Amino acid sequence: LTERLQQAMSKLRKKGKVSEADVKEMMREIRLALLEADVNLQVVKEFTKNVRERAVGVEVLESLSPAQQIVKIVDEELTKTLGSEAVGIEKNPKIPTVIMMVGLQGAGKTTFAGKLANHLIKTEKARPLMIAGDVYRPAAIDQLKVLGQQLDVPVFDMGTEVSPVEIVRQGMELAREKKNDYVLIDTAGRLHIDEALMDELKQIKEIAQPNEILLVVDAMTGQDAVNVADSFNQQLGITGVVITKLDGDTRGGAALSIRSVTGAPIKFTGTGEKLTDLEVFHPDRMSSRILGMGDMLTLIEKAQQDYDEKKAEELAQKMRENSFDFNDFIEQFEQLENMGPLEDLMKMIPGMSQMPGLENFKLDPKDVARKKAMIYSMTPAERENPDLLNPSRRRRIAAGSGNSVVEVNRMIKQFKESRKMMQQVSKGNINNIPGMDQM
Ligand code: GDP
Ligand code: MG
Repeated sequence: LTERLQQAMSKLRKKGKVSEADVKEMMREIRLALLEADVNLQVVKEFTKNVRERAVGVEVLESLSPAQQIVKIVDEELTKTLGSEAVGIEKNPKIPTVIMMVGLQGAGKTTFAGKLANHLIKTEKARPLMIAGDVYRPAAIDQLKVLGQQLDVPVFDMGTEVSPVEIVRQGMELAREKKNDYVLIDTAGRLHIDEALMDELKQIKEIAQPNEILLVVDAMTGQDAVNVADSFNQQLGITGVVITKLDGDTRGGAALSIRSVTGAPIKFTGTGEKLTDLEVFHPDRMSSRILGMGDMLTLIEKAQQDYDEKKAEELAQKMRENSFDFNDFIEQFEQLENMGPLEDLMKMIPGMSQMPGLENFKLDPKDVARKKAMIYSMTPAERENPDLLNPSRRRRIAAGSGNSVVEVNRMIKQFKESRKMMQQVSKGNINNIPGMDQM
């Protein structure tokens, strides 16, 4: 979260219930956060009004502080406004599916056409044809041809002397003849919206009857993005939006504004100049980005990647049956190690960086190695059944792993605590875990 928002949150954290004054103060900060992220003022007003109505008098969930509760509502509303889920390309029941890119000059239309072709090839082995409809700069045609060569995708062009409308007409014919399943039409842009360009685009639309008209917008456009999107939508009726250059440090507030003003779903985002730098749009991720909330999702994803789902299910089963053993314990260590330094992970949680005692979360590699050595010194039977570990067995393990009996005892105690905690979690009893209520 932004610093201001975090301050407002820590003030609120001490309170028990969400009052109108609390919400008012939080909302002021959230408004600023949104404006800082370049969300259009009108959109911000509308949005905060909705959130305020929802937030006042809301029951505070036991597991959340009032401030977290408000942020949660804001995040949910933001996600909802951005469109609740990822929407793909609308396909034509009969081939080809025709997709037309429109937008201002430099927004990233041509680059996106290449990225989309690549995406369609990778995800559904598509056989697209690209049409070079920007005849005003010879370089624009070459740019598309280079992309076509890289991807092994045919590019239809007729140079700069023929009108774009005629090029598209002939390109469409070729696609039908060659049975291409997709046609991607690259069009010209201007620095500003002008009548002549809009007329040309309308004629291309008439000829090509596209299934999708995707408006490509540079995320850095900021406040102006709303006017641009509104004009294109009024004149052409866009079916989707592509936000490019999100790899920059912009917070992407334009996405929220455009979505609110046009109602058209955001379908893809561009995150770099390479052909593979394309992402299917996820409203929830964009919401955290706009709010600037830590890197919660990166954290969750990172943890998920390293955590094999099947193992998780097995573990849950074991926790329920209280048969969590040393084999699982060691596996947990390994998973933690794979995730990288635990402190780094903790820091990604919003507000965590300010938490006193973060250093206690340090996972000391030497300590982990020692504990692993002790577990490896156990017999398979002992690993599966920790209750077997009587004093003589503990002495043997200490000698075998080069540790003292005290250390072995400490490790076993830690294991048992960990097992108890797992059981609490599996029963959904989060509040009984020491330290959890502060998170
Ligand atoms: P067009 O005029 O709308 O066709 O825009 P182009 O596709 O020619 O892109 C303009 C510039 O933006 C080029 O230098 C691209 O490499 C760059 N570009 C396009 N998309 C992205 C993106 O997602 N991230 C970054 N960093 N650059 C991009
Ligand atoms: Mg171009």
